Amino acid sequence: MFKTFDDLADSVLAGAPADREAALAVLASEDDVLLDLVAAASRVRRRYFGNSVKVNYLVNLKSGLCPEDCGYCSQRLGSDAEILKYSWLPTDEAKRQAEFGLAGGASRVCLVASGRGPSNRDVGRVAEMTEAIKGANPETEVCACLGILKEGQAERLRQAGVDAYNHNLNTAPSHYEEICSSHTFQDRVDTVDSARSAGLSPCSGLIVGMGETDEQLVEAVEALREIDSDSIPVNFLIPFDGTPLEGTWELTPQKCLRILCMVRLMCPDRELRIAGGRELHLRSLQPLSLNVANSLFLGDYLTSEGQAAEDDLDMIVDGGFQIVGQEDAKALRDRLRAHRAAHREAMGGADAEAGAGLPPCAGGGGGCGSHAAPEEQQVPVEQPVPAGVGAAQPAEAPEAGVDTVRHGLRDDAGRPLVPTIRRRGAGTDAPPNS
Ligand code: SF4
Repeated sequence: MFKTFDDLADSVLAGAPADREAALAVLASEDDVLLDLVAAASRVRRRYFGNSVKVNYLVNLKSGLCPEDCGYCSQRLGSDAEILKYSWLPTDEAKRQAEFGLAGGASRVCLVASGRGPSNRDVGRVAEMTEAIKGANPETEVCACLGILKEGQAERLRQAGVDAYNHNLNTAPSHYEEICSSHTFQDRVDTVDSARSAGLSPCSGLIVGMGETDEQLVEAVEALREIDSDSIPVNFLIPFDGTPLEGTWELTPQKCLRILCMVRLMCPDRELRIAGGRELHLRSLQPLSLNVANSLFLGDYLTSEGQAAEDDLDMIVDGGFQIVGQEDAKALRDRLRAHRAAHREAMGGADAEAGAGLPPCAGGGGGCGSHAAPEEQQVPVEQPVPAGVGAAQPAEAPEAGVDTVRHGLRDDAGRPLVPTIRRRGAGTDAPPNS
């Protein structure tokens, strides 16, 4: 057993990832040694990823309407969460949404659709979207996340140029039945295996804070090691109202950091991504987490809002990190900030407070169409949604004057408020947060 976290990092760097005993000790460690733990995990992070941060961008191709019953999910069967519900985005719209994220520094676009798994027709749609996105942006990586795959579908996605496939194991095998009854843990493992066999890079991670024990957290990471996941998103449960896990608040910012450190020390060279719920649970410790994780999602999540993408970029720049695929993170951040300010002015000179909830402008070259130079006017932001988008439940833009960014606010019991449901970006005619 290690004496100090530095000893543990030495041993991980010498080729012996943290074992179960060490991982449990990390999770059980006290707050007063938290910075020592982060420093140790940071040494490992920097060995494999230097000071780079990989930025990913989610495009929700199809929202809600799922027949499965995953207890954490706002899109599940029977969910009363008032999320956007819409069927498949057309290819042009998916490409347009993806390009907002690319303009914000993303090097990987994650194409996500709700449902148990895709039909062959759905796979064809995603293949077409991938070809469209990569045709115009050849350096971009595409990750598909479409649920349980049937025979031949992973191969079809790979042939179309999809680089990676996301299917999270989410939790420990011993905890899986507590959170889902409509498919099994093994179904998930099988899909990750079929993705890898087809040449797709497996992306599979966790949702933490769902009632699992520390032993089950470690068990889940052991399962991720077993399936050899290349990248590991760690989601922190967003306990949506209207889902079985509504009101489940088990995490503290310190615990979240310990979980990230545990994953880093068990899976030293794997891409570790801070994902959904980071704003709600890591709160003011978010910037510290980038010393352990090396990747994040920019802007909003599938059904809820993230913090402003500009704040994500601030966190990267202020931490002294660089963005994968970008020459200069600060230059990108400053360009987006200037563009957003210009956009605000073009919208009628709204004051700083009124503009605080505005998403930044984006587009190929950074133009939003309202005030950009002609050569920048490649991806107009404020176009109406094409026919067919939002067909099941048309999206509403946020009400004027409503504060849509409530992160950090607490209820009377001191718990964080539930997140703001996404009402912008894919499936709406409002500009995305990118
Ligand atoms: S996690 Fe996926 S499969 Fe489960 S309910 Fe949500 S959308 Fe459906």
